Amino acid sequence: MPTRTDYPMRVRLYRGRSVHAARELTISGGVETACDYVIDMMADNHWLDDDAGVTCGGCLKAMKKEN
Ligand SMILES: [Zn+2]
Repeated sequence: MPTRTDYPMRVRLYRGRSVHAARELTISGGVETACDYVIDMMADNHWLDDDAGVTCGGCLKAMKKEN
């Protein structure tokens, strides 16, 4: 199960409003969010500082299960 530290990256997806927590996948080299969205690295996503607040409900829910 994911924790906040498992998803250290913060991203607002292209045309999205929510801030997601994300992590790099060591195997594929891609990036996925805590809410199981695989990020299209070619899209014009907005990367935020690592300490930015997560607003995506799915990400918050996924990370909250840990605590
Ligand atoms: Zn999310």
